[in-house]
Amino acid sequence: MSENQSIKPVTTEEKNNLIIGGCDLADLAEKYGTPLYVIDEATVRGICRSYQDAFSEYPNIRMMYACKALCTSAIIRILDEEGFGFDVVSAGEIYTVYNSGVDMEKVLFNGNNKSKREIELALDYGVGRFSVDNFYEAELLNSVASAKNKQADVLLRITPGIECHTHDYIKTGQTDSKFGFDLSQIDDIVNLIKNDYKNLNLRGLHAHIGSQIFETQCYYDEVEILVKEIARIKDVHGISLNEMNIGGGLGVKYTEADNPPPVSVLARAVTSAMHKYAIDIPIIYIEPGRSVISTAGVTLYTVGSSKVVPGGKKYVALDGGMADNPRPSMYQAKYTAEVVNKLNNKEPEKVTLAGRYCESGDILIEDAELSGLEPGDIICVYNTGAYNYSMASNYNRVEKPAMVLVNNSHSDIIVYRETLDDLISKDCIPDRLKKND
Ligand SMILES: *Cc1c(COP(=O)(O)O)cnc(C)c1O
Repeated sequence: MSENQSIKPVTTEEKNNLIIGGCDLADLAEKYGTPLYVIDEATVRGICRSYQDAFSEYPNIRMMYACKALCTSAIIRILDEEGFGFDVVSAGEIYTVYNSGVDMEKVLFNGNNKSKREIELALDYGVGRFSVDNFYEAELLNSVASAKNKQADVLLRITPGIECHTHDYIKTGQTDSKFGFDLSQIDDIVNLIKNDYKNLNLRGLHAHIGSQIFETQCYYDEVEILVKEIARIKDVHGISLNEMNIGGGLGVKYTEADNPPPVSVLARAVTSAMHKYAIDIPIIYIEPGRSVISTAGVTLYTVGSSKVVPGGKKYVALDGGMADNPRPSMYQAKYTAEVVNKLNNKEPEKVTLAGRYCESGDILIEDAELSGLEPGDIICVYNTGAYNYSMASNYNRVEKPAMVLVNNSHSDIIVYRETLDDLISKDCIPDRLKKND
């Protein structure tokens, strides 16, 4: 079983209280306060090794962590130690990765609307690859690189006509997507790079077919399309491309209803398609985000008020919600929770876990089965490592939570809790509005 197939971090134990990374979660809640993001280091390192092992038979594989899932300096350090490169989408992610001491040659800059400033920063920091998304950007990147007298190594982001998500897999001739070149535009962009854009070196193709994917057939089909396109470009343009980026997207298990495949099955789909269709063996980049970090993370909340509405439905309010985890309110994402300090209580009741934010839609989990909740109990919501902190906001002017890393019964803070002064630190009052007293 690989780590993405578990709802809980691999070190989760049930004693009197729930334990992760050898740390009692009730103690962590007491020491650091709630809401609190907790990341289990063993689970992160475990899934990294699952990826490395699964692809070890393929000689030219490069793992690139998709930073948008969770980008903090300590997380970047762990993934760097595990041999991952980084897929970044903004100046902020580039800056975080750079300041964490990463060899910038291992970084790939993605995105459908990179600004001139971000491109300049990426070139100055020596980012290894640019995934060029559209005609406008190709011209902009070439001109910025030319002004700096630099060469940019590029992949072309293409839309292969495959879209694969948890419950649907769509194959169409053309795709309606804001990302990338569709197959009919490839010859034009290749000609422009060949003839006009002297500061771009075309290295390969890049695609990304979706997120929270449970089906590996779509990866097989994606590789086939990319390999055939590389062969066609060689035929038509005489250019040999030696790199292929197949994107990320492997799913995780948020609830018992989710059954993501292990990394080994994904690897088999990719490598078997390579062996069937490829003549040369290009470098393959794979860019997982969610599957690398989601399972390692949990969020702790403290139970507060509750109410029973006519008809009997019970709402229990937590001290966090849509600002620290926007996924349920944004796309009806489902989660699993447990009561940290009531593992032995065998009489669960059905409750709806509500957030503390001023929106009726701020519900974290509908119909959770939890034991005798009382104010002060600590709730652990599983699988919050990805797309929680990275999508968090200060809605209702609430401070963002702290994040701790747990390992071998030890906890370290890796993101400080925001303070009230942090919240007003970027405000300023024009002189004419200042209160003189
Ligand atoms: C979001 C994204 C990823 C990571 O997707 P996950 O579903 O988190 O694995 C990888 N590549 C690209 C281009 C992306 O946009």
